[in-house]
Amino acid sequence: MNYKHLLYSIVLLFFVGACTSEQKPVEGPTTLDTSQLVEDLRVLSSDEMEGRRTGTEGNRKAREYLVERFKQVGAEPFKGEYTHPFTFENRSGEKLEAVNVIGQINGQTDSVIVITAHYDHLGVRDSLIFNGTDDDASGTAVLLAYADYFNKEEPNHTLVFAAFDAEEMGLKGARAFVEDSVLLERVVLNINLDMISQNDKGELYASGTYHHPELKPVLESIETGDVQLLFGHDRPEQGYDDWTSASDHGAFHAKGKKFIYFGVEDHEHYHKATDDFDTIPLDFYKSSAQVILNAILAFDER
Ligand SMILES: [Zn+2]
Repeated sequence: MNYKHLLYSIVLLFFVGACTSEQKPVEGPTTLDTSQLVEDLRVLSSDEMEGRRTGTEGNRKAREYLVERFKQVGAEPFKGEYTHPFTFENRSGEKLEAVNVIGQINGQTDSVIVITAHYDHLGVRDSLIFNGTDDDASGTAVLLAYADYFNKEEPNHTLVFAAFDAEEMGLKGARAFVEDSVLLERVVLNINLDMISQNDKGELYASGTYHHPELKPVLESIETGDVQLLFGHDRPEQGYDDWTSASDHGAFHAKGKKFIYFGVEDHEHYHKATDDFDTIPLDFYKSSAQVILNAILAFDER
């Protein structure tokens, strides 16, 4: 740097200082931390978590990671604790223990929107690790990103972020959660995220408006960017293609609670060992996370 440049720089700094000294520094709008989102997705679906099957060491590691991350992003422990153990019977009548991980961001009111995803998956089969990156590390990781976002942007509703266990064994974590009838009275909506990262056509479903048509205009009003937001998969006559009870939102629906389920159609990696971090179209994942955030913001406004 020569002296002329140095002088110029000093004058410039002085000028900038004079212009901004009267005002607060301008903060940009809060945005989703998508690089941390991708990192959380990678960690949660890494081989170290051994497929996160309920009751296994890998599942416990995933749980510890979630607790740590909830703390880091400033989510409050739900009812004083991040971890909520429960027991259930599996299909062969064995009693099993599982643990939900739940954080919350307090809003201006007591009414609650519960945002859910399941962190358990299928574990290890025939020495193959089923990492379940789309199913459902994708939904779980985004809970952390939303908790981080709403810690910076206070919501109107109190937002409860529930990472459920034992979904793969019959929505057990969600069923345990909805047993709290006092809390359930305050719940106005469940937004469930299960498989939101894997689609080669950029399509994401918002399912449940058949049951709750009043929620459809809200979803039609949001920015969707390069994601194609579709409706459907929620009519009883669709049989297997009716997703109403296919994931944790089914437990809320069974209790008469409103829900919207976000997810993609089944794909070649669904419940296969290839549902791996390397197969995820990350741009779609980030866009899909943004669209769902837009939906949460729109519901929170109401
Ligand atoms: Zn799932």
